[in-house]
Amino acid sequence: MEFKPFHNIFFKALNGAYSRVTTREYFDSQITLTDNEAELVINYFGCDSIHVGSVKGNIDKSLKKFMLFSFDKNLLEPVYLNLVYPKSKKTELRLYLAQSRGYKPKGGDIWFIFINQDHDIVIGSLEEKNWNLLGQVDNEDLEYQEIIENSLITKKPFDISPKGRIKKINSNGRIIYQRDPRLAVNRLILSNFKCEIDPSHLTFLAQKTNLPFFEAHHLIPMRYQNLFTTPLDNLNNIICLCPNCHRAMHHAVINYKYQLVSQIYFKRPEMHIYTLVDIAQFYNCIEII
Ligand SMILES: [Zn+2]
Ligand SMILES: [Zn+2]
Repeated sequence: MEFKPFHNIFFKALNGAYSRVTTREYFDSQITLTDNEAELVINYFGCDSIHVGSVKGNIDKSLKKFMLFSFDKNLLEPVYLNLVYPKSKKTELRLYLAQSRGYKPKGGDIWFIFINQDHDIVIGSLEEKNWNLLGQVDNEDLEYQEIIENSLITKKPFDISPKGRIKKINSNGRIIYQRDPRLAVNRLILSNFKCEIDPSHLTFLAQKTNLPFFEAHHLIPMRYQNLFTTPLDNLNNIICLCPNCHRAMHHAVINYKYQLVSQIYFKRPEMHIYTLVDIAQFYNCIEII
């Protein structure tokens, strides 16, 4: 399967692919590369430089250098693996796994391959449950609820453009996109202080405002701003949630997150300029096939 934008951002990749290692592949110590995986590998090495036949037929030509991605050490180390077309018609492209060489993902793990910004070919693997956590939406917008509460004291919507604007700031060397709390306030008022997942969700009255306590969440998370030319901090992309649903958007298991994202999506026709799949992928709600 092809890398989604958030994978490219996470791995600093130009493009990549991933899939689940089957039990059979693990026991046979070989992976048959399909679709995007095969395409990426062929583009990188060049079809003619991949040996046709058994590894023993041409040991030198079969051996290819990859860079191994380490999650613990945050560095890349070279790893040499055999890659061949076992059949003369080149119908299958096979990569051999080898514990002794340093690359042997287990059955059920997600293995991935990508081209990084230095144009290395990088390979790695991760347990599926950890792979699914890569899409965990950051918590920055949990931190700005306090600011929203303070801005809410007027209880009146702010007279500002609902389209928002893109404002980059540099925070400790990291680029972050700023949110305008006034837009969030306008969303809460517009949603009449009801949870957009289910208006019957109850919270409590906030001490500062004496209004029901609700939070603002960006349906397409702000950290993907660089993939868009229009501001993500706009009224249509902001949703009003009860604290429970908001936490779930960030921390729930994938199936439940997907359910929440789709419920919001269908209630928000303004967001139909994107497909549900486009949006769900930012939450890592992708079925791994
Ligand atoms: Zn949020
Ligand atoms: Zn709710």
